[in-house]
Amino acid sequence: MLYHDLETQAPEKRQARQWKAIRKLLEKAAKHSGEFRARLERAGLSLRDLDSLEAYGSLPPLRKKELISLQAENGLAWLLTCKPGELRRIYQSPGPLFDPEGAEHDYWGWAEGFFAAGFRPGDLVQMTFSYHLTPAGLMLEEPLREIGCAVIPAGPGNTEVQVELMRRLPVTGFVGMASYLKVIGQKAQGLGLDLRKDLSIRKAFVAAERLPESLRSEVEEMFGCTVRQGYGTADVGSIAYECELPQGMHLSSRALVEICDPETGRPLPVGETGEVVVTPFTKDYPLLRLATGDLSSLIAAPCPCGRTTLRLDGIKGRADDTAKVKGQFIYPAQAAQVALQFPQVEAWQIVVTNPGGKDCIAVRLALTGQMDPAAFQAAFQATLKLKPEVECLPAGGIAQDAKRLVDERSF
Ligand SMILES: [Zn+2]
Repeated sequence: MLYHDLETQAPEKRQARQWKAIRKLLEKAAKHSGEFRARLERAGLSLRDLDSLEAYGSLPPLRKKELISLQAENGLAWLLTCKPGELRRIYQSPGPLFDPEGAEHDYWGWAEGFFAAGFRPGDLVQMTFSYHLTPAGLMLEEPLREIGCAVIPAGPGNTEVQVELMRRLPVTGFVGMASYLKVIGQKAQGLGLDLRKDLSIRKAFVAAERLPESLRSEVEEMFGCTVRQGYGTADVGSIAYECELPQGMHLSSRALVEICDPETGRPLPVGETGEVVVTPFTKDYPLLRLATGDLSSLIAAPCPCGRTTLRLDGIKGRADDTAKVKGQFIYPAQAAQVALQFPQVEAWQIVVTNPGGKDCIAVRLALTGQMDPAAFQAAFQATLKLKPEVECLPAGGIAQDAKRLVDERSF
């Protein structure tokens, strides 16, 4: 069962549709987006040079990190093709980064992915992503309403309340992080519940963190449900999603997704590993060739499900020195600001690990004097929205040229 027939389009028809959407976007952006005009000028390109899908690959990507400084220096309106008041919503992600939502239908494009994950009219879905300021909760709720599901806007945390909702209401679907669904399951088991008998969860849509196969099968086994993941960002929305056979993630039909050389930004042949570069076809906030910083490759072989879209072969790491932990990007520059508040900190280093598939973040500090680790922990959490373990070392404990961010996770 498919959400719409774009999922089975013949490849040449799909390419023609993609190019038509991008040509319209280019024209609109050239008229209204200061960012796009400045980017063309820097690259020595004119709109006429971008006259085919192939030529479009020569437009230098817009880096997610640049987006933060561009918004800060020029204001959000400089990147829009409409007035800020004509948008539907404006969210804010850590960075800080504004995420405008335009007025177009299914703006973030997630309905297709939810349908592929088995969500159907009549499902009662518990949404455990945050609704506050960051786009996650609302971004993922609207497509569920579009499909015809009812949604409980539970938000994150309050695990006992989450269990109580699942126990007292016929909740059939879960949306959130897989690691959190496991926490809910363990809590429910601790309360003496039989997850398969006392609860009705049959499908889970998870995102915002890596999904090790061991965690997927553990949660599926616990609840007797299916766990399917979506991949996207707070800027562009849906990029790819799993179908009923979770072997890679189908590219969403609402965007052009390219795998590119992280240095040159040029598209790579199918099968090679590179950076995921996305152009969503939404017009109010044109993100033409947004480089996500995520590394992946495309699977050329057709999927037995019948969809003709290519699939992303998982996310294989980060193209630069930021890392995504529990759905949040860590920017070393933000951590540096925190460290500056503590004169005793001579050097620091962030270490990210994932024992048992769960992201953990630790900060190692080389100290020249006494310091309260809890105060550092609180300041770090206030700025980066993540609570780290803090490890204090004597002065000289971290080499001056040590990497600021060490990602030791295995996937
Ligand atoms: Zn498939």
